[in-house]
Amino acid sequence: MNISVAIDGPAGAGKSTIASIVADRFNLMYINTGSMYRAVTLMCMRNNISHIMVADVCNLTNSLDMHFDGDSLIVNGEDISEEIRLPDVSNNVSNYAAIPQVREILVTIQQAMANKYDVIMDGRDIGTVVLKNAPFKFYLTASAEERAKRRFDELNTKGIAVEYNNILNDIIKRDYVDSNREINPLRKAKDAIEIDSSKLSINEVVEIISNHIKKYIKKTTEGEI
Ligand code: C5P
Repeated sequence: MNISVAIDGPAGAGKSTIASIVADRFNLMYINTGSMYRAVTLMCMRNNISHIMVADVCNLTNSLDMHFDGDSLIVNGEDISEEIRLPDVSNNVSNYAAIPQVREILVTIQQAMANKYDVIMDGRDIGTVVLKNAPFKFYLTASAEERAKRRFDELNTKGIAVEYNNILNDIIKRDYVDSNREINPLRKAKDAIEIDSSKLSINEVVEIISNHIKKYIKKTTEGEI
Protein backbone atom coordinates (compact mmCIF):
# COMPACT_ATOMS: atom_id res chain seq x y z
CA MET A 1 0.00 0.00 0.00
CA ASN A 2 1.54 3.31 -1.10
CA ILE A 3 0.59 6.12 1.31
CA SER A 4 0.84 9.78 0.44
CA VAL A 5 -0.38 12.57 2.67
CA ALA A 6 -0.67 16.15 1.42
CA ILE A 7 -0.71 19.15 3.76
CA ASP A 8 -1.13 22.64 2.38
CA GLY A 9 -1.66 25.98 4.01
CA PRO A 10 -0.23 29.46 4.47
CA ALA A 11 3.09 30.34 6.16
CA GLY A 12 3.31 29.55 9.84
CA ALA A 13 0.15 27.42 10.10
CA GLY A 14 2.15 24.67 11.85
CA LYS A 15 2.44 22.38 8.82
CA SER A 16 6.06 21.34 9.31
CA THR A 17 5.85 20.62 13.05
CA ILE A 18 2.71 18.57 12.56
CA ALA A 19 3.89 16.76 9.41
CA SER A 20 7.12 15.78 11.14
CA ILE A 21 5.27 14.18 14.09
CA VAL A 22 2.78 12.37 11.82
CA ALA A 23 5.71 11.13 9.69
CA ASP A 24 7.34 9.52 12.75
CA ARG A 25 4.06 8.01 13.87
CA PHE A 26 3.30 6.29 10.55
CA ASN A 27 6.87 5.76 9.35
CA LEU A 28 6.48 8.12 6.39
CA MET A 29 9.20 10.15 4.72
CA TYR A 30 8.62 13.83 5.51
CA ILE A 31 9.18 16.15 2.56
CA ASN A 32 9.07 19.83 3.39
CA THR A 33 8.67 21.38 -0.06
CA GLY A 34 8.98 24.93 1.33
CA SER A 35 12.56 24.03 2.27
CA MET A 36 13.26 23.18 -1.37
CA TYR A 37 12.04 26.60 -2.57
CA ARG A 38 14.03 28.17 0.27
CA ALA A 39 17.15 26.22 -0.82
CA VAL A 40 16.87 27.60 -4.36
CA THR A 41 16.46 31.09 -2.90
CA LEU A 42 19.45 30.77 -0.58
CA MET A 43 21.72 29.42 -3.29
CA CYS A 44 20.65 32.19 -5.69
CA MET A 45 21.22 34.85 -3.03
CA ARG A 46 24.68 33.45 -2.26
CA ASN A 47 25.49 33.70 -5.98
CA ASN A 48 23.93 37.14 -6.45
CA ILE A 49 21.30 35.78 -8.83
CA SER A 50 18.14 37.86 -8.54
CA HIS A 51 14.71 36.35 -9.24
CA ILE A 52 14.42 38.28 -12.49
CA MET A 53 17.49 36.48 -13.91
CA VAL A 54 15.28 33.52 -14.79
CA ALA A 55 17.75 31.56 -16.97
CA ASP A 56 20.43 31.76 -14.27
CA VAL A 57 17.96 30.76 -11.56
CA CYS A 58 16.96 27.71 -13.63
CA ASN A 59 20.55 26.66 -14.33
CA LEU A 60 21.38 26.89 -10.67
CA THR A 61 18.20 25.00 -9.65
CA ASN A 62 19.06 22.21 -12.08
CA SER A 63 22.57 21.96 -10.63
CA LEU A 64 21.38 21.38 -7.06
CA ASP A 65 21.57 17.91 -5.58
CA MET A 66 18.89 17.92 -2.86
CA HIS A 67 17.90 15.21 -0.45
CA PHE A 68 16.24 14.98 2.94
CA ASP A 69 17.96 13.35 5.89
CA GLY A 70 15.19 13.19 8.50
CA ASP A 71 14.03 16.79 8.92
CA SER A 72 17.29 18.17 7.48
CA LEU A 73 17.74 19.28 3.89
CA ILE A 74 21.12 18.52 2.38
CA VAL A 75 22.06 20.48 -0.74
CA ASN A 76 25.25 19.64 -2.62
CA GLY A 77 26.47 17.88 0.52
CA GLU A 78 25.81 20.83 2.88
CA ASP A 79 23.15 20.84 5.61
CA ILE A 80 21.39 24.16 4.99
CA SER A 81 18.37 23.51 7.23
CA GLU A 82 19.13 26.37 9.64
CA GLU A 83 20.25 28.96 7.10
CA ILE A 84 17.13 28.66 4.92
CA ARG A 85 14.95 29.73 7.89
CA LEU A 86 16.66 33.11 8.26
CA PRO A 87 14.44 36.19 7.67
CA ASP A 88 16.42 37.23 4.58
CA VAL A 89 15.46 34.00 2.83
CA SER A 90 11.83 34.22 4.06
CA ASN A 91 11.53 37.72 2.64
CA ASN A 92 12.66 36.65 -0.83
CA VAL A 93 11.46 33.07 -1.29
CA SER A 94 8.01 33.87 -2.76
CA ASN A 95 9.62 35.70 -5.69
CA TYR A 96 11.71 32.68 -6.66
CA ALA A 97 8.81 30.29 -6.00
CA ALA A 98 6.68 32.23 -8.50
CA ILE A 99 9.02 31.33 -11.40
CA PRO A 100 7.16 28.65 -13.43
CA GLN A 101 10.34 26.82 -14.55
CA VAL A 102 11.57 26.55 -10.95
CA ARG A 103 8.22 25.06 -9.94
CA GLU A 104 8.37 22.58 -12.79
CA ILE A 105 11.82 21.35 -11.75
CA LEU A 106 10.93 21.04 -8.06
CA VAL A 107 7.49 19.47 -8.65
CA THR A 108 9.14 16.76 -10.81
CA ILE A 109 11.60 15.97 -8.00
CA GLN A 110 8.78 15.91 -5.41
CA GLN A 111 6.62 13.57 -7.50
CA ALA A 112 9.57 11.21 -8.03
CA MET A 113 10.09 11.06 -4.24
CA ALA A 114 6.39 10.28 -3.70
CA ASN A 115 6.52 7.48 -6.29
CA LYS A 116 9.42 5.88 -4.52
CA TYR A 117 8.48 6.28 -0.84
CA ASP A 118 5.46 6.57 1.47
CA VAL A 119 5.44 10.31 2.07
CA ILE A 120 3.89 13.16 3.95
CA MET A 121 4.52 16.34 2.04
CA ASP A 122 3.69 19.91 3.01
CA GLY A 123 3.61 23.09 0.96
CA ARG A 124 1.21 25.23 -1.03
CA ASP A 125 0.33 23.14 -4.11
CA ILE A 126 0.61 19.59 -2.82
CA GLY A 127 -3.08 18.63 -2.82
CA THR A 128 -3.82 20.60 -6.01
CA VAL A 129 -0.78 19.74 -8.17
CA VAL A 130 2.03 17.60 -6.75
CA LEU A 131 -0.07 14.81 -5.17
CA LYS A 132 -3.40 15.39 -6.88
CA ASN A 133 -4.42 11.78 -6.25
CA ALA A 134 -3.32 11.56 -2.62
CA PRO A 135 -5.89 9.75 -0.47
CA PHE A 136 -5.32 12.29 2.30
CA LYS A 137 -5.34 16.03 1.80
CA PHE A 138 -5.37 18.52 4.63
CA TYR A 139 -5.53 22.29 4.50
CA LEU A 140 -4.16 23.86 7.66
CA THR A 141 -4.97 27.47 8.49
CA ALA A 142 -4.72 29.91 11.40
CA SER A 143 -5.12 33.67 11.66
CA ALA A 144 -2.19 35.76 10.36
CA GLU A 145 -1.64 37.17 13.89
CA GLU A 146 -1.47 33.71 15.46
CA ARG A 147 0.90 32.50 12.74
CA ALA A 148 3.16 35.54 13.19
CA LYS A 149 3.22 34.99 16.94
CA ARG A 150 4.31 31.36 16.46
CA ARG A 151 7.11 32.31 14.03
CA PHE A 152 8.20 35.12 16.38
CA ASP A 153 8.39 32.72 19.36
CA GLU A 154 10.22 30.10 17.27
CA LEU A 155 12.92 32.55 16.07
CA ASN A 156 13.24 34.09 19.54
CA THR A 157 13.81 30.68 21.08
CA LYS A 158 16.63 30.17 18.60
CA GLY A 159 18.14 33.52 19.71
CA ILE A 160 17.39 35.27 16.39
CA ALA A 161 16.36 38.89 17.08
CA VAL A 162 13.23 39.87 15.15
CA GLU A 163 10.35 42.36 15.45
CA TYR A 164 6.84 40.90 15.70
CA ASN A 165 5.48 43.49 13.24
CA ASN A 166 8.11 42.61 10.64
CA ILE A 167 7.16 38.94 10.89
CA LEU A 168 3.45 39.77 10.60
CA ASN A 169 4.07 41.96 7.54
CA ASP A 170 6.20 39.23 5.92
CA ILE A 171 3.46 36.66 6.52
CA ILE A 172 0.75 38.91 5.06
CA LYS A 173 2.92 39.73 2.04
CA ARG A 174 3.83 36.07 1.45
CA ASP A 175 0.18 34.98 1.78
CA TYR A 176 -0.69 37.52 -0.90
CA VAL A 177 2.09 36.56 -3.35
CA ASP A 178 1.57 32.80 -2.79
CA SER A 179 -2.21 33.04 -3.30
CA ASN A 180 -2.11 35.36 -6.30
CA ARG A 181 0.72 34.03 -8.45
CA GLU A 182 -0.28 32.67 -11.85
CA ILE A 183 1.23 29.21 -11.53
CA ASN A 184 0.04 26.80 -8.83
CA PRO A 185 -1.18 29.40 -6.33
CA LEU A 186 -1.97 28.46 -2.75
CA ARG A 187 -5.48 26.96 -2.82
CA LYS A 188 -7.40 24.47 -0.76
CA ALA A 189 -7.96 21.37 -2.91
CA LYS A 190 -11.68 20.63 -3.31
CA ASP A 191 -11.28 17.30 -1.53
CA ALA A 192 -9.02 18.60 1.27
CA ILE A 193 -10.08 18.55 4.91
CA GLU A 194 -9.70 22.04 6.36
CA ILE A 195 -8.34 22.38 9.89
CA ASP A 196 -8.18 25.79 11.58
CA SER A 197 -5.36 25.44 14.09
CA SER A 198 -5.79 28.90 15.70
CA LYS A 199 -7.33 27.43 18.83
CA LEU A 200 -5.98 23.88 18.63
CA SER A 201 -2.78 22.53 20.15
CA ILE A 202 -0.22 20.76 17.97
CA ASN A 203 -1.26 17.44 19.54
CA GLU A 204 -4.91 18.03 18.77
CA VAL A 205 -4.16 18.64 15.09
CA VAL A 206 -1.85 15.60 14.99
CA GLU A 207 -4.68 13.47 16.45
CA ILE A 208 -7.21 14.70 13.86
CA ILE A 209 -4.85 13.85 10.99
CA SER A 210 -3.75 10.55 12.55
CA ASN A 211 -7.36 9.41 12.99
CA HIS A 212 -8.06 9.93 9.29
CA ILE A 213 -4.96 7.95 8.35
CA LYS A 214 -5.76 5.13 10.81
CA LYS A 215 -9.31 4.82 9.45
CA TYR A 216 -7.97 4.60 5.90
CA ILE A 217 -5.35 1.99 6.80
CA LYS A 218 -8.03 -0.07 8.59
CA LYS A 219 -10.39 0.10 5.61
CA THR A 220 -7.58 -0.80 3.20
CA THR A 221 -6.45 -3.78 5.23
CA GLU A 222 -10.07 -4.95 5.54
CA GLY A 223 -10.35 -4.74 1.75
CA GLU A 224 -12.96 -1.96 1.63
CA ILE A 225 -10.75 0.29 -0.50
O1 C5P B 1 6.52 26.42 3.88
P1 C5P B 1 7.43 27.64 3.90
O2 C5P B 1 6.80 28.82 4.56
O3 C5P B 1 8.79 27.35 4.39
O4 C5P B 1 7.59 27.99 2.33
C1 C5P B 1 8.37 29.06 1.90
C2 C5P B 1 7.84 29.61 0.60
O5 C5P B 1 8.04 28.66 -0.44
C3 C5P B 1 6.35 29.92 0.55
O6 C5P B 1 6.06 31.20 1.07
C4 C5P B 1 6.06 29.84 -0.94
O7 C5P B 1 6.41 31.04 -1.58
C5 C5P B 1 7.00 28.76 -1.40
N1 C5P B 1 6.36 27.46 -1.55
C6 C5P B 1 5.65 27.20 -2.70
N2 C5P B 1 5.13 25.97 -2.93
C7 C5P B 1 5.29 24.98 -2.05
C8 C5P B 1 6.01 25.22 -0.85
C9 C5P B 1 6.51 26.48 -0.62
O8 C5P B 1 5.48 28.10 -3.52
N3 C5P B 1 4.81 23.77 -2.33
